Amino acid sequence: MVEEILTNIYKIEIPLPENPLKAINSYVLKDSARNLIIDTGLNRKECRDAIRAGLAELGVNLKEADFFITHLHADHFALVSTLASDNSTIYFNQPDADRVRDGTPWDDMIEYAGLNGFPEKELLAAIHNHPGYKYGSKFDLPLKILKEDDTIDIGQYQFKCVETPGHTMGHMCLYEPNKKILVSGDHILGDITPNIQSWADEGNPLLQYLWSLDKIYELDVAVVLPGHRRIFRRCRERIQELKDHHQNRADEILTILKKGSRNAFRVASEMTWDITWESWDQFPVSQKWFATGEAIAHLKYLWEKGMVLRETLGGKLMYSFFSRSLCALYHFIWTKKKRKVLNRM
Ligand SMILES: [Zn+2]
Repeated sequence: MVEEILTNIYKIEIPLPENPLKAINSYVLKDSARNLIIDTGLNRKECRDAIRAGLAELGVNLKEADFFITHLHADHFALVSTLASDNSTIYFNQPDADRVRDGTPWDDMIEYAGLNGFPEKELLAAIHNHPGYKYGSKFDLPLKILKEDDTIDIGQYQFKCVETPGHTMGHMCLYEPNKKILVSGDHILGDITPNIQSWADEGNPLLQYLWSLDKIYELDVAVVLPGHRRIFRRCRERIQELKDHHQNRADEILTILKKGSRNAFRVASEMTWDITWESWDQFPVSQKWFATGEAIAHLKYLWEKGMVLRETLGGKLMYSFFSRSLCALYHFIWTKKKRKVLNRM
């Protein structure tokens, strides 16, 4: 399905079968010299057929096309390996390029998931059902690395690169300041909440994500072209909603931890998920994986803020509620008691 969004900017909707995201938006910026394709799809037939049909409808020849990929996730990146021609430039970012070069560390992720309580018998199934594992692609094409404030000129548009780490380490948006267009990738979505996960002990993806939201908040944006679902206009309102969402998630986790120490998998199982399955046990293993990754990102954020305690017990990372206000209350009661005793003396 092809739709003209703005002058010479088109959207091709590429289906993502059996995936709750439903589809990915690929944007095509047409120009008489070169065309630019932003994000591509999974390396599977349904995506290949859809993008090829869309490009044919637009009369775009792949030999005259360059690519900009917002981030490394397979639904955005994987198909570029089969679409790029010898003279295509593929614009990308350094942190995600490093990850692509080194390959996804599935073994390390399995180990870390186990440490966070993911049941051993479901671990391999989780990886084997992961879209990046199933529909990723081997990649050895040269990439042109872009950094903050680099520009891509195409036709009447001059897009500026904005580094927005969080959803992935190197996620990058494009901003057109004259026309106030934001190509947001998976950083800001209008209808669904971008998934913020953590699968390694390094880094604090949620903190980075919140910083990146604040960074985009400063921009004057009239229209957002997101990686999934509908194009929308209310950028600042949406940013506030996303920030509120993560605050609510963090609060929910604190409430769960007040019931006692838990590992991240168990925390995830007790969180509320906007998903069609009735209970956690019925969740497909791939959804349990995404949910646990999201729980870990929030737990790590709270831990680094000093709001939860973390310790290793029985070979698992356990989190417990640790309230500064509770500590202050204990301190208050203790000093009051002491004062009473002193008064009696
Ligand atoms: Zn993504």
